[in-house]
Amino acid sequence: MVSTERSIALQPQFWQLARQACLIGIGVNTIFFGVFLYLDARILAWVNVISVLMYSWAFSAFGKRQNTLATGLIWTEVVLHAALATLLIGWDSGFHYYLLLFFPALAVTLRGPMALAAMIVQWCFYIGLYLLSYWYRPLRPISDEALLGLNFFNLTVVVALFGFLGFYYVRTIKVANRKLNTLASVDELTQLLNRRQVTALAEAELARSERSQLVASAMLLDVDHFKLINDVYGHEKGDQVLQHLAKIITRELRQHDLVGRWGGEEFMVLLPETDLSLAESIAERLRSAIASHAWETNLGHDLRVTISIGVSESKPNETLTRLIKRADNALYISKDEGRNRVTVLQDLSKESELAKEVSRSQ
Ligand code: GH3
Ligand code: MG
Ligand code: MG
Repeated sequence: MVSTERSIALQPQFWQLARQACLIGIGVNTIFFGVFLYLDARILAWVNVISVLMYSWAFSAFGKRQNTLATGLIWTEVVLHAALATLLIGWDSGFHYYLLLFFPALAVTLRGPMALAAMIVQWCFYIGLYLLSYWYRPLRPISDEALLGLNFFNLTVVVALFGFLGFYYVRTIKVANRKLNTLASVDELTQLLNRRQVTALAEAELARSERSQLVASAMLLDVDHFKLINDVYGHEKGDQVLQHLAKIITRELRQHDLVGRWGGEEFMVLLPETDLSLAESIAERLRSAIASHAWETNLGHDLRVTISIGVSESKPNETLTRLIKRADNALYISKDEGRNRVTVLQDLSKESELAKEVSRSQ
């Protein structure tokens, strides 16, 4: 758990976890203090007192964000304690298990070459300790039963810590995945679905409607003269207007309707199992809710915001692109006819006429 400038920037939760691990260290060493006093292994009992002090220091250092100092203290404590206990009472006491915890810890806290180098050093230390206790007898041997008991206890603690580490990493990955999914599918400003996500969901919904031989309707909403709002009230106010519009739109729609931010000041709505006349009334309700909303400004007067809407209804075997194209054409008519209005477009001939008109005017 060595933290250097070259170490990977770890999440605050990691340091929180390391801080909690200090409490486990304090607890385990307090138990050992009692056990070694009972076994009359006084040197080790006092080593445990030093360990408790070191873990307490590390705990307080983590609290002050002195992470390098704290991890250094933990590392020193574990290495020296494991070595001393192994040399004094023997390899079979199982104190060397604690050294194994460093391998995954080094792998996640250090970068590639540093992690590899640190792991090789740690491995040499581990093997060296093993050879020493193989060649030399323990300096302060204890009974076989006591050795067995210690071994089981140490093994249990280390296995529990490994399990805890594994659990923590799985949870961290899940949280990170959830955040990434949200970032990839939600518009940051309005918290609505972003264009990519609303398109994907609307395509799936359209396919479902097709299978059930139901119609769905689409709406494109565009804020009227939004550039002017930005110019007069500032971009920040413009952002607030967009955020609040998103709330009004969501509030006015049904739970299963899909709504997303289509572009700058444009929104797209897909209304499943909704024919054109119902869609038109929903659009009208939305338009009037927005038009009647009084927006507070710091200029001593209320701001009025209106939207224009284009509505279209799905036809058999139609793609979402085609459905939205028709809603876009309808929106164009709403703008052309004075804004703050709803236009539905059903008639194909009217659509082709309009398409000609649009291309002429461009
Ligand atoms: P129209 O009635 O014809 O739709 O006019 P308009 O001014 O709304 O349309 P135009 O396309 O000319 O301008 C849209 C403006 O929306 C321009 C752009 O700066 C602004 N805009 C786009 N995205 C954002 C945003 O996230 N926040 C803010 N504040 N403004 C944005
Ligand atoms: Mg626009
Ligand atoms: Mg606009």
